[in-house]
Amino acid sequence: MAVMQREYGRRTLLRQIRHAGRIPRIELSDLTGISRATVTTITAELLSHGLIEEVQRDEAGPDSRRGRPRVDLKIRGAAHLVAGVKVSHHKLSLVLLDFEGEQLAAEECDLPAPVNAPEVLAEAIRDAVSHLATVAGRRAGEVSGVGIGIAGIVEATDGFVHWSPSLSTRNVDFGALLTRTLGTPCFIDNDANLVAVAEQTFGLGREHKDFLVVTIESGVGLGMVIGGALYRGTRGCGAEFGHTKVQLNGALCRCGQRGCLEAYVADYALLREATLVSGLSAEGDAATRVETLLNAARTGDATARSILDRAGQIFAMGLANLVNIFDPELIILAGEQMQLDHLYADAVIDAMRKSIVQVDKAPPEVVVHKWGDLMWARGAAAYALDQVSELALDRLDKDAA
Ligand SMILES: [Zn+2]
Repeated sequence: MAVMQREYGRRTLLRQIRHAGRIPRIELSDLTGISRATVTTITAELLSHGLIEEVQRDEAGPDSRRGRPRVDLKIRGAAHLVAGVKVSHHKLSLVLLDFEGEQLAAEECDLPAPVNAPEVLAEAIRDAVSHLATVAGRRAGEVSGVGIGIAGIVEATDGFVHWSPSLSTRNVDFGALLTRTLGTPCFIDNDANLVAVAEQTFGLGREHKDFLVVTIESGVGLGMVIGGALYRGTRGCGAEFGHTKVQLNGALCRCGQRGCLEAYVADYALLREATLVSGLSAEGDAATRVETLLNAARTGDATARSILDRAGQIFAMGLANLVNIFDPELIILAGEQMQLDHLYADAVIDAMRKSIVQVDKAPPEVVVHKWGDLMWARGAAAYALDQVSELALDRLDKDAA
């Protein structure tokens, strides 16, 4: 039992130090309820394994006159290097962080094709991580772990990808393939989950225990943080907000079913509707055609406007369903595409508020967080930090046993 308590204590204290940035031992004890003696013992272990370090407190407070300088603990940045990778349609976005979470390098590189064989994608990720390390003046061999965010149905616990729009085959043991190909532990998860991790680690979710992140890219994703922890479901099939049903016998979705939210709000759904009702040309690439549609709406084209309004109203209905199920403190609408403003519009949020259960308390806060692919990659890197910490603590547990 004492061993388990010690293992739990190590994890709790390391997490608390990471969350605080810099913190004295006595405050660690106050915040975690772990006794001062145990805090002293455990932090000595973490120090001797190089995971944390002591720093003198700069400020000249009243304590500094007592002869004993105040000492804070912080994560030791040099302890590990981790990389985060976001797989998008045509490119990889990468960041390299030290163990403290300080960004050392960021890169983007093109993929050979939007859909790749697992081996081809794994090799592209290996080469990109290697290049990223070089940019920071480091070697790929120094990277202790790589987090990878990919769209699709992913079982994060064992790195299994049931399906991904970026892979040419289903049921891929992709985490294991990546670990073999890169020669360092790789951790894979659904990209929307990793955006939730990024919000929890670096962003708007830092101070919240219950929040939802709705990601809007070419599809609609969801990350759920409940009671301070990411909720992943049993088979990695949870949080498929885009495939919740909003219409009986409705429009055909990319997943093969009918009436999914995505079949009304995703790019391809807007284009399908526009081609049908306004005769928008079916020629040309999707991005250009979406731009044409959005421009038409902006310049007052009534048909284009009504297509976007309908997408917004259906999106609002989906959001209201989420609030009615989860009752979160906060909903973060995260996306990088400024052009999808019609989904972030005040009218959409108002429509959502009208469809939720009404009580005499303020509805959940809804905030829009527009960020680029690098922030998705930072989420993947935050996941790697968490997993690399866990591996380091496992080693410490063994050494101490
Ligand atoms: Zn669907």
